[in-house]
Amino acid sequence: MTRRFSAFLAAVGLAVFASALFLSPTLSGQSAAAACTGARDLRLINGNIVTMDARGRTVREVTIQDGRFTAVGPRGGGQRLSDCTRTINLNGRTAVPGLIDNHNHIVLMGIRPGYHTPLESATSIADVQATLRTRAQNVPAGAFITSMGGWNPVQFMEKRLPTLAELDAATNRHPVLVFQGFTGPAATNTPGRTFFASKGVAVSDTGQIAANAPSMAALNALRAVQTFDDRKRGTMDAMAYSASVGVTTNADMGAFNLPGTPDLQGSFEADTLASANQFRMYDAALSLAREGKMTTRLRIFFLTMDTRPDVPVLSERLRNNFGDFGDGMVKVSGVGEFASQWPLFGQATPTNYTAALQAVAKAGWAFQQHSLSPAENELTISTFETVNKTTPIKDLRWSLAHVGSIDAAGINRLKAMGAAIAVHPFQYLAGGRGGPPLRTIVDSGIKVGAGSDSAQISTLDPWNMISYMVTGRSSDGMLINAGQQLTRMEALRLYTAENGWFLKEERDLGTIETGKLGDVVVLSDDYFNPMRVPDDKIRSLRSVLTVVDGKVVHDALGAR
Ligand SMILES: [Zn+2]
Repeated sequence: MTRRFSAFLAAVGLAVFASALFLSPTLSGQSAAAACTGARDLRLINGNIVTMDARGRTVREVTIQDGRFTAVGPRGGGQRLSDCTRTINLNGRTAVPGLIDNHNHIVLMGIRPGYHTPLESATSIADVQATLRTRAQNVPAGAFITSMGGWNPVQFMEKRLPTLAELDAATNRHPVLVFQGFTGPAATNTPGRTFFASKGVAVSDTGQIAANAPSMAALNALRAVQTFDDRKRGTMDAMAYSASVGVTTNADMGAFNLPGTPDLQGSFEADTLASANQFRMYDAALSLAREGKMTTRLRIFFLTMDTRPDVPVLSERLRNNFGDFGDGMVKVSGVGEFASQWPLFGQATPTNYTAALQAVAKAGWAFQQHSLSPAENELTISTFETVNKTTPIKDLRWSLAHVGSIDAAGINRLKAMGAAIAVHPFQYLAGGRGGPPLRTIVDSGIKVGAGSDSAQISTLDPWNMISYMVTGRSSDGMLINAGQQLTRMEALRLYTAENGWFLKEERDLGTIETGKLGDVVVLSDDYFNPMRVPDDKIRSLRSVLTVVDGKVVHDALGAR
């Protein structure tokens, strides 16, 4: 469990684009190497490459030229390769299409303060300490090491937050803050306590910071000293982590409105770890995109929570943005996971939901709606039906998200409109009452894809999500989704081939086929072979080589 984090952290600290690893077969010398800088030409040979295409093909080699697959299987005799084409021998390893997370909050993950360090796969306080200790080796002394959301004490053997002494043992050269969920609780070490004391934040003798106001005061003290360069560095780290676990495309579902954000008057606001300035939160990623530094694909869904009947913020979003606009690395893809007020955080059932969805439908945008309960399912489905009467949603790629519970009748009503279901099995992390009813949903024949809903209450690591889909077991090993498990092939299909649809990009993403974008993940072991990867080891899988757009963006093979 700890080893894969060490590998990730080492990769972040080292140059990920280690071009020295792959000697060009056709060129040599410095000028030739310079001419090939940024090349997106690659051949992967001698692999067990599972394409996830409709025919279920597995091939030994693939060729990518200028960022797209030009041959899947042996090349035709006449196909010429660019002089910059690199060849990588997979030595029989299993490779799959780049995974697509159809709903998460990677933009928020990137702009969190401190050197955010995912703890999502730690199983004990000792794992937490080891992960922080490794991270400390690559963080300047005195800088805050944080872990902001994406973990839950349930996953730790000890079932509690770490103490001040335990965090000091991990590092005392850096202040540390580990922060749970949307609004804490949190815990800090001795240097952290000194910083927070100077800001008037209450910290107990054992380093504990209570949930809600005290934890938010700690978070806001760190937000206050964060720079734009910090946000760019955090965004690079978030993408490096995503690549290390094999997720090459992230569909981002926005943030809650941070109180005091200008021009959002009349919108619901709440200060949480999942809150941001909805206009400025994308600046770090967009800056990196301009510099050509995006290493994983970002798809943006705009979240709005207008409280007024005429939904002014949503209307301006739709009026002033070009739908499905961008390039292969960053694109505006839709509206979600809210388009109006919603009954959560004490809000009433919205009266502006129909108006909001009519506007989204008329603009022709994709849409995804958060739902945690039967009442929210019903509100969503009946509003989809109302809108569908005047503006058919069949081709718009609308979906109901999370669906911890849904019955056959609800599934069939969505299916009849050409709407889909996006499952997010975040029950994995905190345990509880199980769901989604994955078997029922898949067997219904409705369009369905998967994602994580990371990074506050769930894990971006898709192998945690896939482990849960296959075994029905939460992070503490409890069987909580009995009778609703999927096969390994089905679960991976929901994370690859099925997810291009939600982005209107099924022709470009999700499978390894000639003409599609060149995203491939080489796995640390053979996921499809239960003798090699038993059920309880699925969540230990990671990527050893991640290719996005024909470029190597994560490489753990070079370390061998
Ligand atoms: Zn979400």
